[in-house]
Amino acid sequence: MSVSSEWIARGEIHIAATYARFPLVAQRGEGCRLWDVDGKSYLDFLAGVAVNNLGHCHPRVVSALQKQAAELLHVSNFYHIPQQIELAELLCSNSFGDRVFFCNSGAEANEAAMKLVRKYSQQVHGKERFEVITALASFHGRTLGTISATGQDKVRVGFEPVVPGFRYVPFGDIGAMRAALNEHTCAVMLEPVQGEGGVNLPPEGYLRDVRALCDEHDMLLVFDEVQVGCGRTGTLFAYQHDGVEPDIMTLAKALAGGPPIGAAIFREKHAEILGPGSHGSTFGGNPLISAAGVAALKTLLEDGVLENCRAMGDYVRKRLEELRERYSFVTEVRGRGLILGMELSIEGAEIVKKCLAKGLLINCTVGKVLRFLPPLIVTKDEIDEAMGILDSVLQEYK
Ligand SMILES: *Cc1c(COP(=O)(O)O)cnc(C)c1O
Repeated sequence: MSVSSEWIARGEIHIAATYARFPLVAQRGEGCRLWDVDGKSYLDFLAGVAVNNLGHCHPRVVSALQKQAAELLHVSNFYHIPQQIELAELLCSNSFGDRVFFCNSGAEANEAAMKLVRKYSQQVHGKERFEVITALASFHGRTLGTISATGQDKVRVGFEPVVPGFRYVPFGDIGAMRAALNEHTCAVMLEPVQGEGGVNLPPEGYLRDVRALCDEHDMLLVFDEVQVGCGRTGTLFAYQHDGVEPDIMTLAKALAGGPPIGAAIFREKHAEILGPGSHGSTFGGNPLISAAGVAALKTLLEDGVLENCRAMGDYVRKRLEELRERYSFVTEVRGRGLILGMELSIEGAEIVKKCLAKGLLINCTVGKVLRFLPPLIVTKDEIDEAMGILDSVLQEYK
């Protein structure tokens, strides 16, 4: 029996069966590569679902964690935390935001955003205005509040009654959003590029129209950049591509270069809404995670990572387009920066398994979209290697 199969058998006994896991038992990572406990190596074009944007174990992040771990791991938010303050300064000086609430995950960041919009609206417009419009095919997390916000019925099945006050409209359709508005609507929450929903880009001008609609009705605009923030699309934040600023932005996944973190970023004019006692998190922004966050964000900004993301994004896209021309079951290639989707007319799950067996990690969303999320530090050689594996798997379906 391999070391992997022993772990897999043990995991099946006591781990909650919430994931349909692939037969890979992870041991070590470096850059774009991951090794399993039997020594097999993989090119990681999933990157922990857009968490390992700097690759595995980036030396700047590792060294910040080691240094901070030896000095102070955790202290309560009853006290001031220099690393947290530094991370907030970096986030605000590089975005539209003025204030940051730190938590531990994307779902929690969205919970903070939803609490903020409700409280703002209640104070300004009264108790009857609490509904949030979100998009169909969106994904906002797995808590009771965020499955309520997510525009996919399947995530709510069996968990009803969910949190009231959400309406879903097709992503990209401003007319549908206008029609869904009513006297109860207080906010709109969107991913500027949909990730889990199949790598869906907004039509040109859509986010600007949404912004105008929000301004017209004093509704707050929330951008969930949990997946597409932190450099993934080639700009530090995805909203910068469209030049449309939200009122609140949520981040998580790649923000600390690997360790768990979440953040809701908002403007000074809403500082009072999330005032003392209104919200909190035990671990949010603790010294260890914040130190990693500072190192990760500085690396993104200083080490040419965004430039590499844009150049390599163009290159992956070109290589995927070549495959589209050769395989009739590849119907579309789309994406921005290094979040790319390849839509198929056949199911993608088996292709993902075959890629894994050959040493390439990708995943498939909404059944038929292969999603590529390599680390933003990926090289041309690594892309060539990955595309070679993908090509050899697609061959089998010709
Ligand atoms: C992953 C994701 C979330 C949820 O983040 P968790 O850290 O798993 O709670 C929320 N929104 C988007 C867009 C995501 O991709």
